[in-house]
Amino acid sequence: MERRLFRDVPERNWKDPAWQLRHRIRDGAALARLLPGLFTGAGEADRVSPAYPFAVTPYYLSLIDPESKEDPIALQCLPREEELRHSPGVGEDPLNEEGSMPVPGLIRRYADRCLLLATGECAVLCRHCNRKRNWKARRKRMTWREFDAAAAFIEGDRSIREVILSGGDPLTLDRGSLRRILQTLKAIPHVRMLRIGTRIPAVLPMAVDGGLLELLREFRPLWIATQFNHPRELTAEAAAACTALLERGIPVVNQSVLLRGVNDVPEVMRDLLYGLVEAGVKPYYLFHCEPVRGVEHFRVPPGEGSALFRKLRREISGIALPRFVYDLPGGKGKRSLESETGPGEGGDELSFDRKGQID
Ligand SMILES: *Cc1c(COP(=O)(O)O)cnc(C)c1O
Ligand code: SF4
Repeated sequence: MERRLFRDVPERNWKDPAWQLRHRIRDGAALARLLPGLFTGAGEADRVSPAYPFAVTPYYLSLIDPESKEDPIALQCLPREEELRHSPGVGEDPLNEEGSMPVPGLIRRYADRCLLLATGECAVLCRHCNRKRNWKARRKRMTWREFDAAAAFIEGDRSIREVILSGGDPLTLDRGSLRRILQTLKAIPHVRMLRIGTRIPAVLPMAVDGGLLELLREFRPLWIATQFNHPRELTAEAAAACTALLERGIPVVNQSVLLRGVNDVPEVMRDLLYGLVEAGVKPYYLFHCEPVRGVEHFRVPPGEGSALFRKLRREISGIALPRFVYDLPGGKGKRSLESETGPGEGGDELSFDRKGQID
């Protein structure tokens, strides 16, 4: 199936991340041409894109099954009418990220770490993105003035020991900008570690090339938090990108989102989690999908999500098991959705008395 849609592209172009970015599919006519089975006209894509634009790398599009509109890769990257429907009361920023910024572009919810929205650019616009409110904003990048203000804030607060670069996707930044950002943060003595949240290994793995690896290596301890949501995203190229990072001493963890129609079936989730572990990637979080405008059709009812998670916990290796969490509305932080026992469980477990003795 791979590359069926792009059979004629020379290997040299295919492996060039700049070529992939330049040739992203971003309008209805192109979709109708490439996927006549799914998009008969430009209609649906062009109705959705004024509110929520789309952009897909040829690489990521090549992973879809061109016959099925319910394909889990298609659901994550192609525009759908459902994005335009929303329930009353569902806002664009229920986590109140905009209100949790002591300085523009820096979200602070925990004492010892903060999150920097370094850029609004992404290689692929994920339909389930909970920051899709930012897609329309004309200014895509943090300005250097804003970055310097954020860095000054971090420098002035010695309780911050970790800075997480997020966005957008920080690995879409040009090398020079990325280096300047990492250098500035690394130079702050109390910033002990850096983390980069990126979907690049899943949607544009060829961008993890020698130059990027050398750059990232310099700034260790640096961790990559990536996002794979379906086992079919774990291609040979994607696995090679993760391996290359690991070989440079850069640990890779994964944050998935539980998505209706994509990975809400235990067998699919299990394949994803085991696939990650085989690639050396530790499943870190499984996020319950937030009630954000434009992503509601992806939500799995919390009870169903918990049942799925309990099943996984009983059946799969502890190394493969992420933490199942959701972000509390209003920006109150992450909360576990893992109840210790579910209906019909327990009873055969050891219990502890108040002093911690097993009784
Ligand atoms: C999720 C999140 C973090 C990181 O939390 P971890 O539990 O360390 O992964 C940091 N800041 C904000 C604002 C977050 O939403
Ligand atoms: S890469 Fe991240 S920020 Fe960008 S669209 Fe996807 S989920 Fe949203």
